[in-house]
Amino acid sequence: MQTNILSLCYLIGSVSFIIGLKMLSNPVTARRGNLVSAAGMAIAIFGTLFLYQPAGTHFHNQQWIIGAMIIGTVIGSVAARKVKMTAMPEMVSIFNGMGGLCAALISVVELGRIAQDHSDMHVLSILAGMVIGCVSFAGSMIAYGKLSGKIKDHTFPGQHILNLLILLAVLAMGAFIIHGDSAAPVFIFCGILALSLGYGILFVLPIGGADMPVVISLLNSFTGVATACAGFLYNNQVMLTGGILVGSAGAILTILMCKAMNRSIKNVLIGSFGGSTVVAGSTATGDQGAYKEISLSDSAMVMKYARKVMIVPGYGLAVAQAQHACHELEQSLRNNGVEVKYAIHPVAGRMPGHMNVLLAETDVSYDDLLELEAANEQFSSTDVVLILGANDVVNPAAENDPSSPIYGMPVLQVWKAKSVIINKRSMRPGYAGIENQLFFLPNSSMLFGDAKDVLQQLILQVKEL
Ligand code: NDP
Repeated sequence: MQTNILSLCYLIGSVSFIIGLKMLSNPVTARRGNLVSAAGMAIAIFGTLFLYQPAGTHFHNQQWIIGAMIIGTVIGSVAARKVKMTAMPEMVSIFNGMGGLCAALISVVELGRIAQDHSDMHVLSILAGMVIGCVSFAGSMIAYGKLSGKIKDHTFPGQHILNLLILLAVLAMGAFIIHGDSAAPVFIFCGILALSLGYGILFVLPIGGADMPVVISLLNSFTGVATACAGFLYNNQVMLTGGILVGSAGAILTILMCKAMNRSIKNVLIGSFGGSTVVAGSTATGDQGAYKEISLSDSAMVMKYARKVMIVPGYGLAVAQAQHACHELEQSLRNNGVEVKYAIHPVAGRMPGHMNVLLAETDVSYDDLLELEAANEQFSSTDVVLILGANDVVNPAAENDPSSPIYGMPVLQVWKAKSVIINKRSMRPGYAGIENQLFFLPNSSMLFGDAKDVLQQLILQVKEL
């Protein structure tokens, strides 16, 4: 009876996870989707705590589990409440890393069972959970460091070959354990652990420029796969369903990100792409000539009397928390008969879908958000492009400078519009740390200032004109 109720809890957990994930794909239902999934997982967890009866023994240590859950819940809730919107990507990286670490620890704990059950599938799922979980943990911690600016890109000669050798060594040790007749010596397991952690660090460390989004979604996928391995190990449907869904969703996102960045997944896996020659956050030094500035009143005028305005949001919009002001300006222009659209680059901001999440807060109509290809088709028929805190995603060097670290990445071809107004606070570079030729083109004008202040001023000016 107890087992049947527990199976029902797991079924509810799995189904609500699937429904919740589906709801997450739409900004309108995303919040509720999160709650549905969390409620389902809570049912599965409490079902396990109170109903699980392992064969031949009794379920113990509940007090430790509940204690750890309380500590984790408090830390998670405080972190989620306190985190600034701009620090979200870093927090997501840490949380993702913790998921990978959990899956790896489960495998470590279960290592002792290899001696009792040496079936290939059993050993394989323990090893896979350990390796993938460690890579995800170490990689996510490095990604956190890079996103928060604490860790710089590092490359050294032969790094890609070293990555490949580490992978091969891990595979060889894994094969030795699986095909060995008796239990493998402990140092081989320790070697696999150390090499997997090392690989996680080394494969994320050199990735710079504009290529971090691919790595972030790949690490998400790894955590899902590691969790699925743990689910397989325990024959637990909820862990298996959750892990497979997170793993496949992350894999699909990785493929989409690769397409968006024009990169190949093979290169990501051996960590051989995207090493930037310029350190993120540094000041670019190239001499591109002079740029011109535009005043607030002139900006308001050209937009108010334009037929079509395209807004390009970027990371700076998130920093300034200017999304509401941006929506207000859009409505104000619309009230004056201007057609207004948003051009959304898939890697704008600091996490996949960052701009969509940001704009969803303001109830911007989804019909007005244009994806990269659609936007690029429309720039030549656009009168004014207003760039709000975007930089790398509108840099023409991606198309015309083979020496640029972002060369090959599809960008928004804003320069095709009649005039381009770029709002940022200074001439400092964006995430990739490179100068932007766009700022020096004849149809470009700089509108310096914090995005929120500038937008509030523009709204007033448009109303007064
Ligand atoms: P960028 O990082 O290229 O540029 C952002 C610009 O915003 C900066 O040049 C900065 O200039 C400006 N800015 C900062 N604060 C403000 C403010 N308060 N008001 C106005 N402007 C401001 O951003 P993009 O969105 O164009 O590109 C994203 C970059 O991040 C890409 O290189 C992408 O690969 C990378 N990345 C993306 C991830 C993702 O998943 N989306 C993950 C990791 C990295 P100034 O200081 O002069 O104001």
